[in-house]
Amino acid sequence: MATFEELGLDAKLVQATDALGFENPTPIQEKAIPVLLSGTKDLVGLAQTGTGKTAAFGLPLLQLVQAADRFPQALVVCPTRELCMQIVSEVEQFKKFMPGMHVIAVYGGTSIGLQIRDLKRGIQIVVATPGRLIDLIERKAINLEQIKYVVLDEADEMLNMGFQDDIEFILQNTPKREATWLFSATMPPEIRRVSRKYMQQPFEITVGKVNTANKNIDHQYYVTAAHHRYETLKRIIDFNPGIYGIIFTRTKADAQNIAEKLTREGYDIDALHGDLTQQQRDKVMGEFRDKTLQLLIATDVAARGIDVQGITHVINYELPDDVEVYTHRSGRTGRAGNTGISLSIIHSREIGKLRQIERMVQLQFHKLEIPGGKDVCRKQFFHFMDKLLQADISHGDYETYVPMLAEKFADISKEEVLKRVAALEFDRFLKYYENAEDLNVRMRELKGDGAGRGRERKESSPGGRQYRDTRGREFNGKGDYMKLFVNLGSKDGFYKASFLQFILDMSDLKKEALGRIDMKEMNSWVEVDRRSANQMIRSIDGKNYKGRRIRMNEANSR
Ligand code: AMP
Repeated sequence: MATFEELGLDAKLVQATDALGFENPTPIQEKAIPVLLSGTKDLVGLAQTGTGKTAAFGLPLLQLVQAADRFPQALVVCPTRELCMQIVSEVEQFKKFMPGMHVIAVYGGTSIGLQIRDLKRGIQIVVATPGRLIDLIERKAINLEQIKYVVLDEADEMLNMGFQDDIEFILQNTPKREATWLFSATMPPEIRRVSRKYMQQPFEITVGKVNTANKNIDHQYYVTAAHHRYETLKRIIDFNPGIYGIIFTRTKADAQNIAEKLTREGYDIDALHGDLTQQQRDKVMGEFRDKTLQLLIATDVAARGIDVQGITHVINYELPDDVEVYTHRSGRTGRAGNTGISLSIIHSREIGKLRQIERMVQLQFHKLEIPGGKDVCRKQFFHFMDKLLQADISHGDYETYVPMLAEKFADISKEEVLKRVAALEFDRFLKYYENAEDLNVRMRELKGDGAGRGRERKESSPGGRQYRDTRGREFNGKGDYMKLFVNLGSKDGFYKASFLQFILDMSDLKKEALGRIDMKEMNSWVEVDRRSANQMIRSIDGKNYKGRRIRMNEANSR
């Protein structure tokens, strides 16, 4: 086994490794250090944290960089503030016997002014997170012109967090770059692409086992009708009372609307999207980080670079079009050895897209049933009871009240007290879920049908109805619809959702009876299951709405 000295390191660096108690180089150090000391060879190191990779690049950097030149010559880019600080603290130890050598950490979420001031002090090595680095470049506080060495640490994590463009920007704007060293725990195709594009015949080192994907993430999906997406989201949240998650939407409007709706319904959620000022964004992120907010809803762009520990669930309100975006999203959970769930709400026409993502990430997605109302109630109930048992009653003046309470409850049994406590907490909830509908769209593979092989078709729902609608019609269509005209529209103050609720309440029908709703200013057209159309017309036609007589009839019949 080689010694640090034999790897070619200067005496001052060997002295530092001695001082740190490093007896021998780790495998990655033994392989990488002699190559990196040349200063001109690119490297791809497949290694995880704990293998000694910081020293594998940190020691050679310190030997290559000129302490006499007081400008940045080496740039280490890493995904998170924590890692940034960790790298700097290690490098500081390695440079203990090298006066005049300076290293600085720059990362977001803290005063940029102080970092700019520190940068001016003449430092040689900058360790940065991508977002803050770009910010500093734009403010002309750092000049990449003289950078000779670029290290990308935890490159896969950086790509997961949506920093691909920033990384490419950095690589494109370091004209004097002599060597690029890329470290990554996994080797997804995007990293291969970056290495092919920006590196020259890199020396490759693999330490330990290489994962192709993060095995700590369970990828799940739920199939529902497109118009049940919101309800499904709510049900999933309710079914996971301890959830700490990020919901991804495709549009700002969705993020905003869903956040507003859920807030109105009592959920701890806020939205992160491009329309927020930096201050508002910081506020939302601060609340999410300290768990005042249980849920964050974000667009992909707004969520770039989010680094929060302990996310239990990533929810794809809709699947993204791009497989890479899916990877970025799901990479927000299952970090630092924790497990996490990335779940997607899809409708039946998105199955193909899901299979495509499955192939690309080389993982199997698990299909789960959307929990029924009873399942949700049971889950919430036990969660509440757990909370009740864990309630901290050690402080406070509860003892003083005990005799009074005992007197008040003298004639009531313990069971009854429990029931009452449960009723207080759950009444609204139980009522909400009492008649909750089944939100699942059930699928089965078409068998023995050449034309339809591999496609999926609706199966009978547990309610016993047989929906036989096939090719050509929407999956959320339930067969034979009659199109009804109604003289109510947006002018009457309706949105589609409130209108839907209105006609369902009036007619005492369930959502499944409806197909598409086409709402205009003055009138709307509603598709209703032919078997329910009469009931709907009977209960609505001729009634009054805000003093106006409602007319509802079969479209085109008059
Ligand atoms: P890293 O993979 O860079 O995060 O390093 C993991 C830990 O191993 C750090 O605490 C290092 O200080 C330590 N370490 C790195 N190289 C050696 C070595 N050659 N011998 C003993 N410990 C080491």
